Amino acid sequence: MTELEVDLAIVGAGIVGAACAYRAVEEGLRVGVVEAGEPAAGTTSAGMGHIVALDGSPEELVLTRYSQRCWAELGPRLPPGAGFRSSGTLWVARSGAELATAEAKAERFHRAGIPAEILDSEELVLMEPMLREGLAGALLVPEDLLVDPAAATRHLLEVVREKGGRVWTGTRVRAIRPGGIEAGEELQLRARGVVNAAGVRAPELSPGLPIVPRKGHLVRLAGGRGRVRHQIVELGYGAGIRSPDPVSIALNLHPRADGSVLVGASREWAGDDPRVDPAVVERLLGRVREYAPALADWPVTGARTGFRPATPDHLPWIGPMPGAPGLFVAAGHEGLGVTEALGTAHLVVDAFLGRVPAIPIEPYLPRPERAVAPPPGPEGTPAR
Ligand SMILES: Cc1cc2nc3c(=O)[nH]c(=O)nc-3n(C[C@H](O)[C@H](O)[C@H](O)COP(=O)(O)OP(=O)(O)OC[C@H]3O[C@@H](n4cnc5c(N)ncnc54)[C@H](O)[C@@H]3O)c2cc1C
Repeated sequence: MTELEVDLAIVGAGIVGAACAYRAVEEGLRVGVVEAGEPAAGTTSAGMGHIVALDGSPEELVLTRYSQRCWAELGPRLPPGAGFRSSGTLWVARSGAELATAEAKAERFHRAGIPAEILDSEELVLMEPMLREGLAGALLVPEDLLVDPAAATRHLLEVVREKGGRVWTGTRVRAIRPGGIEAGEELQLRARGVVNAAGVRAPELSPGLPIVPRKGHLVRLAGGRGRVRHQIVELGYGAGIRSPDPVSIALNLHPRADGSVLVGASREWAGDDPRVDPAVVERLLGRVREYAPALADWPVTGARTGFRPATPDHLPWIGPMPGAPGLFVAAGHEGLGVTEALGTAHLVVDAFLGRVPAIPIEPYLPRPERAVAPPPGPEGTPAR
């Protein structure tokens, strides 16, 4: 039996757990991270890596923007392999009505101090020649960023190790107890604080957390470097997040550093079966044909799925768990966990240290009333 004492024990080495550990060692805390598989083995390696200001609600906009600024500060210190770059997002409008939606979005962004600019049809095609002619225009948000989430996770954990933190992989946490965790066959970590950052599996260790899997498919196209320059998203994307439909699809093109393009994204209330569904892949490719027919000839080199950790109000749970002294939650980021990881880490470590955070933590705090309206399950039933 190995028994060790740390200040903060972190369950899960996805992007959120890794960011919390990184932030904690930056503050000089003794940290232990315990991961059941490999770093980034969960949803993090299935995601895209778009670091995006999103305005589904005022609280979402505050957290995504705050966290994005944290990424912008960290970015220059990331190794080239982390794929960090500034791409900007193009929110593409098909019609005049969608362009009006883009204008309203631009106003909200301007009020939040986020640069955003409306492009007309010609300006859009000049900026992204792979898009078809005849689209109505777009909203350009130039400060959105890209990263390779798995590579960034591994880098953050390397820094944690360099600064004296411990990382156990292949070690499943069996239980979170007052004052620490029990993991694997023979690891006990005593800790002043424990962070449950186990993503979609967080409820297994903290029953009552209303986090459910929301499946997503991504398709990879072989392409050519520089041929898609921005993250390109259709304006219906935000509506899909809040849709109760069993499967909703919104085009989201993510240019990778190697020249390939990830095509997303589906959002599915479909349980936890990881198999690729050819019908969903076909719907994604149909969206490519609709917006960017020039890409439709690019070879499909793969398709994969992942499970977003979704909550009823589409906001993550961040901060101390009521009735469980020393237990903190950092989970439930749905489709924004990469974007929100660094901001989450600041909020968690500030809460642990009893400091006033840079943004109010209240909207994200674990509270029983946030658990009352679970998202619908596969057949319209609550899926927990
Ligand atoms: C198709 C798709 C596209 C996406 N695109 C984006 C995007 O462009 N931008 C964005 O911001 N977000 C995106 N996301 C969302 C993002 O990927 C997730 O929100 C994020 O990865 C969640 O990170 P996490 O660390 O909370 O969870 P995870 O990455 O799942 O990490 C949790 C870790 O905990 C470990 N674990 C679980 N149980 C235990 C246990 N008992 N003991 C020890 N370890 C345990 C798991 O093995 C796992 O490694 C996307 C998601 C999907 C599916």
